[in-house]
Amino acid sequence: MSVAGEPSFRESVDMMFRRATALMDLGPGLQEKIRVCNSTYTVRFGVRLRGKIETFVGYRSVHSEHMEPVKGGIRYSLGVNQDEVEALAALMTYKCALVETPFGGSKGGLCIDPRAWDEHELEQITRRFAYELIKRDLINPAQNVPAPDMGTGEREMAWIADQYARMNTTDINAKACVTGKPPHAGGIQGRVEATGRGVQYALREFFRNPEDAAMAGLSGDLDGKRVVVQGLGNVGYHAAKFLSEEDGAKVIAIIERDGALVNEDGIDVEDVRQWMNRNDGLLAAYPKAKHVVDGAKVLEMACDILIPAALEGVINLSNAARIQAPLIVEAANGPITYGADEVLRAKGCVIIPDMYANAGGVTVSYFEWVKNLSHIRFGRMQRRAEEGRSRILVEELERLSNDQHLGWQLTPDFKKKFLQGSDELALVRSGLDDTMRTAYQAMREVWHGRPEVGDLRVAAYIVSIGRIAATYKSKGL
Ligand code: NAD
Repeated sequence: MSVAGEPSFRESVDMMFRRATALMDLGPGLQEKIRVCNSTYTVRFGVRLRGKIETFVGYRSVHSEHMEPVKGGIRYSLGVNQDEVEALAALMTYKCALVETPFGGSKGGLCIDPRAWDEHELEQITRRFAYELIKRDLINPAQNVPAPDMGTGEREMAWIADQYARMNTTDINAKACVTGKPPHAGGIQGRVEATGRGVQYALREFFRNPEDAAMAGLSGDLDGKRVVVQGLGNVGYHAAKFLSEEDGAKVIAIIERDGALVNEDGIDVEDVRQWMNRNDGLLAAYPKAKHVVDGAKVLEMACDILIPAALEGVINLSNAARIQAPLIVEAANGPITYGADEVLRAKGCVIIPDMYANAGGVTVSYFEWVKNLSHIRFGRMQRRAEEGRSRILVEELERLSNDQHLGWQLTPDFKKKFLQGSDELALVRSGLDDTMRTAYQAMREVWHGRPEVGDLRVAAYIVSIGRIAATYKSKGL
């Protein structure tokens, strides 16, 4: 989405990049090398469907190969175009550097309305698109590893993995050619929810720093915070569900394609999602909240936290001045244009930037890739050993209490939790939480440590560009 007079998504990302590099001590040549998109491959291919040949246009853009493989999702949407894919690939480069996943940045897209085709047709289209990319090494465990994005999910990733395996029958690492696969096809526990979970961890870390919350005029923790979310897809649904069910936040509005639901008393996210599943993804007739036809208007509603989790450019010069949320978490990529970002900052709005806020997906994708390369599930070797050690301690404590007549007992709940070794899901969550906390602190240090750095976005760019520059320098560039 681009509003007249505003830069394109790609230009917007570049302008944000330049705002950061203006505060850095990098030579102009290196800056330019980091900024530019290395290559974008466009493919047009035909698939015979419903008795005729349909032609599709797809892209795979590689922004930076300072580390390989490069990583980035594949989007299915009619809005896909070269500018968008390149902007998203650039964001992937910066995101991977910020959360220290050892990848360069890439992105793919197919110009398609996935709802217009049935499952079998989508499989044919996906396999053909994958074939075109695989034969050019634009899908490859060592060079380029896609993942899900808007309009794609586990199902599409499983087809891509199978297509790669069929074309590379002796590659023992074939499964690592794509992440976001279902667990039975080489995926990892916790990947589907990972981006939304990362948004939750990002917000928890933000509120663990009361001075940061105070900059948005907020205090306390997430309990009772009023949340508006746009997009109840993979990212928005999981983020809103976890925040409301686990942290006590109150989701007061959900914005979707066909308008918004509003209820100041709180909306049951799971109930709405079930409703959407039964009603072709539509919210309109949902009985337990007011339906507002002009969904975009609801972005301007008073709330504590606004979570745009659908598409780019939704907060732009046409509505930025009317946005009331003091805190915006960019769960989507690029939801705020460069111009809107300036307007919001001038109003004192705190923005947790996309390259950090939605990095949970690529973080858990990294764990999945490592799992595929090591050919073993996380926790398989350690879990029971961990439980065994904990059991020795519990039994010894109980023996001491009995022998010494101390009269105290461990509660059954404590024993249950303490005796449980970490399975794959627990380890994935621990790794994700650690990543989100560490990356936040790296941004925060720059945000608070340098007076000329006024916001988290510039801080995030400075941290990540600094790391990319260091990699290039160590390569002798
Ligand atoms: P998705 O396709 O699962 O969900 C998108 C949701 O947005 C859908 O429910 C759709 O109906 C809704 N939507 C579309 N147009 C809308 C509009 N105009 N107004 C309101 N709602 C609208 O996609 P997703 O995977 O959740 O991705 C959402 C965003 O998060 C994208 O920007 C994507 O790049 C970003 N992201 C996704 C991941 C991931 O792991 N899936 C990771 C990082 C970033």
